[in-house]
Amino acid sequence: MNLADSSTLRVAMITRGYQLVDDEKDADLIVLNTCSVRQKAEDRIRGRLGEIHSLKKRKPHVKIAVVGCMAQRLGNELIDQVPYVDYVLGTDRLFALPDVLEGNENTSSVMTAFGHENIDSIKPIRENEHSAFVTISRGCNNYCSYCIVPYVRGRERSHSREHIVEAVHRMNDEGVVEITLLGQNVNSYRYKQTDFPCLLQSIVRETDIRRIRFMTSHPKDLSEKLVDVMANEPRIMPHIHLPLQSGSDAVLQRMGRAYTYSHYRHVIDYIRRKLDYVVITTDLMVGFPGETLEDFEKTLEAVRDIRYDSAFMFRYSVRPGTKAAGYDDDVPEDEKIRRLNKLIELQQNISYERNQREVGRVCECVVEGYSRRSQELARGRTEGNKTVLFRTDEMVLGSVAPVQITAADAFTLRGEIMEANRS
Ligand code: SF4
Repeated sequence: MNLADSSTLRVAMITRGYQLVDDEKDADLIVLNTCSVRQKAEDRIRGRLGEIHSLKKRKPHVKIAVVGCMAQRLGNELIDQVPYVDYVLGTDRLFALPDVLEGNENTSSVMTAFGHENIDSIKPIRENEHSAFVTISRGCNNYCSYCIVPYVRGRERSHSREHIVEAVHRMNDEGVVEITLLGQNVNSYRYKQTDFPCLLQSIVRETDIRRIRFMTSHPKDLSEKLVDVMANEPRIMPHIHLPLQSGSDAVLQRMGRAYTYSHYRHVIDYIRRKLDYVVITTDLMVGFPGETLEDFEKTLEAVRDIRYDSAFMFRYSVRPGTKAAGYDDDVPEDEKIRRLNKLIELQQNISYERNQREVGRVCECVVEGYSRRSQELARGRTEGNKTVLFRTDEMVLGSVAPVQITAADAFTLRGEIMEANRS
């Protein structure tokens, strides 16, 4: 979501006549779009602000804007704590940055109000890429006990069906091959009579976009109707990111997740029964307040049982202002690290085994660029959102290439392009 917001803001600034520079030493304005989801993310921003402060001491005319979740959470407090910050614009107000810089009416240097604008007035503008994000809703109503998002992104608001379809249409015309529909909980998208499966059907019916992805899904809201739509529409990519967080019902309840492990398992069974090929990924958290060894074992058991393709794994950290901040953070830090390492080791072994199943398959890959480590290899993304590396004589960004998978480790696939069938 932050990447999508940064991209929209960047292009909005360029449209208003501002220029991007490659090096912050050449900038007159430095914008930090921030994340508050974990303490570590905020600590890193404070570190970056310290670095930028040295620059500002040498060039006092340089302005610093902090936007997004941390700006929303702290507001004026951020200016008190870091007085050399010039602008603080929260999650609903960051797109006002050009107006703030120009001193336009109804703007000020600290703005954190929610819902001051019709969210459809924020045009999803893309850069010159072959894939793009389309934000379909903002905010979240779920208030999971550990999560700061509802407080910093506000109540859930859905963009109109027409607005989203029009945005996808325009991106397709501009050469985008793949769009990712974004929301904190895409499954609770609703605009008038349109729910999320209907929205997907509208995009398929009314646009020619080649590949459609979405994230993130909430297990309590992911419906059989959605899976049925995916099963019938090959342009919707077979990848579902479905955060489990914990395999223990007691922990899930304290997290306020509103599902049990058995409900979650039922959803997974339905997905795997209906979709011939699907990649399932998840988020997992260890060391939540009150997590016993038995609870943690249940998470390990769930991971062995479901066999995810990959997972984002974290140890719990307190977010002030959330319900869980009032719980006793009783799992010692070294025990959290031990549990996390054990979970990572288990998941990496499973990811390796899952990726071996890809060997021999022919995947349709969108070519995204060079391998991060070697200019001799191209990097593509499979239908299931896995990274694949392969040799090619001709690097055509955004082209769709059939690649036969020849080898795999836990993180990456390797393959050979079948050039004759490239498009
Ligand atoms: S669903 Fe829960 S974890 Fe996800 S953004 Fe909403 S409150 Fe946070």
